[in-house]
Amino acid sequence: MKIDKDISLKLFNTFGIDVLTKYFCSLTTIEELQQLLIEPKYAAEEKLVLGGGSNLLFTRNFNGLMIKMDIKGIHLIKEDFENAWIKVGAGENWHQFVLHSLNSGFSGLENLSLIPGTVGAAPLQNIGAYGVEVKELIESVEALEIETGRIRHFVNEECQFAYRNSIFKSELKNKYIILGVIFRLNKKPNYNIHYGAIRDTLKEMGVSQLTSRAISNAVIKIRQSKLPDPSQIGNAGSFFKNPVMTNEKFIALKKGYSNLPGYQISDKETKIPAGWLIEQSGWKGVKFGNAGVHEKQALVLVNHGNANGKEIKELALKIQNSILEKFEIKISPEVNIF
Ligand code: FAD
Ligand code: NAP
Repeated sequence: MKIDKDISLKLFNTFGIDVLTKYFCSLTTIEELQQLLIEPKYAAEEKLVLGGGSNLLFTRNFNGLMIKMDIKGIHLIKEDFENAWIKVGAGENWHQFVLHSLNSGFSGLENLSLIPGTVGAAPLQNIGAYGVEVKELIESVEALEIETGRIRHFVNEECQFAYRNSIFKSELKNKYIILGVIFRLNKKPNYNIHYGAIRDTLKEMGVSQLTSRAISNAVIKIRQSKLPDPSQIGNAGSFFKNPVMTNEKFIALKKGYSNLPGYQISDKETKIPAGWLIEQSGWKGVKFGNAGVHEKQALVLVNHGNANGKEIKELALKIQNSILEKFEIKISPEVNIF
């Protein structure tokens, strides 16, 4: 096990923020992780787990031990007529796992194609796209408690999954390291194409017979045309969560903004696209020093060059304040800020 000292994290976060970590260790087995956690030298150090760094904003050097999860492995553990249960190591690349599941003839993950990052981080914010959330496919999560080294299996309900949230991002934040995830995938497809963009793209691609692969290809096409590629321009995807409000508040707001989009998510609540609010407030494409708002997707903040995390955080605060002033809506970051 190699532990580096005072290394730059620039290549380990998709915003491309150049900060240092005091210690850095990449781990490929649970045994290595357990051994590292009982090392007296690192006992008092603050610990932070790193996957692909695609949902992080570093605003300062990290004065502790950064643990990069590189535990691999994709194993079919059981199957019946309807489902297949697959155990996947936390360090597997998310999109590669999605492709692997499609190649194996299993469906369910197609709408979540091309999301950057690792399998281990997916439960953390219950990744979602195009009407599917990963919680729908998760059977259980295997995680190690940092303080005791004990391994615990969280069944789906115990993960407290919610919109871009889970127990690992709230109550147990930074207390557990996710080692692996067991997915329950479908052998009988149950496609979800209720997002207009998917339907339009499938039509454009001339798809006559719906398959998981066709949906995955459509999702990949949309994402490649719309979202900035972090290898070209630093970003962490959507910076803010979509705000959710009561139906009454939405109806009242709609009186002032007749073209305000809203999606009713329950009997009582409506979700509003934060990107629309940001765009309407004039932020789309705006540059603020080296930080900026992406020109095609206002929900994505970008690093135009050598932005530091504080600049991006400041821009985010300005945006939050202007939305609060204009619409009286509080939007909160989805990205994990350190
Ligand atoms: P990191 O950024 O490395 O970590 C994120 C958080 O999880 C940190 O707090 C970290 O400490 C913690 N963490 C990481 N691994 C573990 C582990 N094994 N155990 C415990 N804690 C851990 N998200 C969506 O939901 N939907 C999208 O459609 C989507 N699209 C995106 C598009 C782009 C271009 C980008 C850049 C990002 C997008 N994201 C999206 C956000 C991001 O890809 C996901 O949140 C992803 O799951 C983060 O994975 P990661 O491995 O990079 O996590
Ligand atoms: P979009 O299609 O332009 O839609 C804008 C917003 O409206 C989305 O945020 C989406 O909410 C909502 N929406 C659209 N159609 C909907 C429907 N039929 N029912 C309910 N809500 C609907 O969004 P986009 O920015 O191109 O992103 C497409 C998808 O990829 C979205 O699901 C988005 O969440 C996901 N994505 C996420 C990230 C991230 O970093 N988290 C980055 C890029 C894309 P939801 O966001 O709740 O789906």
